[in-house]
Amino acid sequence: MAEQVNRRAFLEYAARTVAAGAVMGGLPLSADERSAGTQPAAEWRNKQPTMGYARLGRSGFMVSRCVFGAGGLYGKGGDTRLLEIAIERGMNCIDTGRPYPQSEATISPVALRHRDRVWIISKAGHIGWPDIRVKPGEDAEAAKLYTDQLDESLRELKVDTIDCYMIQGVEHEWVVTMDALYEAFVKARKAGKVRYFGLATHTNVPKVCELAAKSGRYDVVLLAVNPNSVAELSPAIRMMREAGIGVISMKTSGPIGKDAKAFDGSYGQVFAGQELSPYQRAYAYLLARGGIDAFNAHMSNQRILDENLAVPTLKLSEAELNRLQRRTLAEALGSCHHCGSCGRACPEGIDVPGALRCHAYVHHYHEPDWARSMHAMLRAGACRQCGACHSACPESIDLPTVVAGLRAGLA
Ligand code: SF4
Ligand code: SF4
Repeated sequence: MAEQVNRRAFLEYAARTVAAGAVMGGLPLSADERSAGTQPAAEWRNKQPTMGYARLGRSGFMVSRCVFGAGGLYGKGGDTRLLEIAIERGMNCIDTGRPYPQSEATISPVALRHRDRVWIISKAGHIGWPDIRVKPGEDAEAAKLYTDQLDESLRELKVDTIDCYMIQGVEHEWVVTMDALYEAFVKARKAGKVRYFGLATHTNVPKVCELAAKSGRYDVVLLAVNPNSVAELSPAIRMMREAGIGVISMKTSGPIGKDAKAFDGSYGQVFAGQELSPYQRAYAYLLARGGIDAFNAHMSNQRILDENLAVPTLKLSEAELNRLQRRTLAEALGSCHHCGSCGRACPEGIDVPGALRCHAYVHHYHEPDWARSMHAMLRAGACRQCGACHSACPESIDLPTVVAGLRAGLA
């Protein structure tokens, strides 16, 4: 019943805003495909039988349900053979961003070689994560950051147009609704520099997503969501889908560091003839029941690449999905909800949610170089182990230990 009420309330809201031809802040919706419910033609790229695809909201992109996360992976450069293999197997969307220094330049030769086979998503930093440089009311500065970084991205990638240019790491609600940012996007779009607008968020996620849906401005949202947080986020995910936003998950597996075998006694069955890894279970669960179009994954070696690319074509029966749900939820218990309470509680201004992501880059993604770069931005050295972050965390994650342990993990 609550879901029906939420849905009705949202549809009434959408009808009002579309009828008025306006969104929050008074900017008009553009006349083409930007209103909720309008469906541009599907656009296919690199369709292969080895991949599964879904429509990415109003963009019409038939996106591979596994998106190649090239940000942290190539933040310090690196070998792009795995990216080539992913494209050969039908992956058609690469996600990168300005905050990852070498990433765009590193993927550029591959992206150019396969320009008609892949879509490129990139992002502007410092309007959110990392190291936010604007305050409420600094509209001109925020718009300049978006525009300047878009131009830098075009130069680094050596392309004329980026398929979707996002604001990276949005945490604050005033960023979501800032008129100047949307105006900067519209101007860039008219100049042919970008096709779609988006944001990425891994802190204060439910509110940011809800507001993105209500704004009528965003085409694609990349959100941190895992099996432990998806129930809380599902109203916002539903609102975004109904608003025509394409939804891609990141940090999807949560901090799966537990012994997967611990659950084998209870859930020892195989899925679709094969045993799935904890990561595959988390991805498969969110694709099947989490309301997302695709998941963004960090693929740093051949085994992980093979595992991730196999997920979109898994065929699971209802019984197998029910079993998958039970096991995945049990494994994800205690994972971060990306609410941001820990960071807000820290008296030293430490980026505590960022520390948790940094921990994941060390222990789960095995990217120590990128983790070192992240660590330098956290102010973790200021931690005095007061425990306020731990007290504020609804999942009781031992954050003081995480923050204190980062340096040792990076040594
Ligand atoms: S324990 Fe450290 S990180 Fe946590 S709130 Fe206190 S100073 Fe901040
Ligand atoms: S308070 Fe806990 S659940 Fe919320 S962002 Fe911090 S670690 Fe995650």
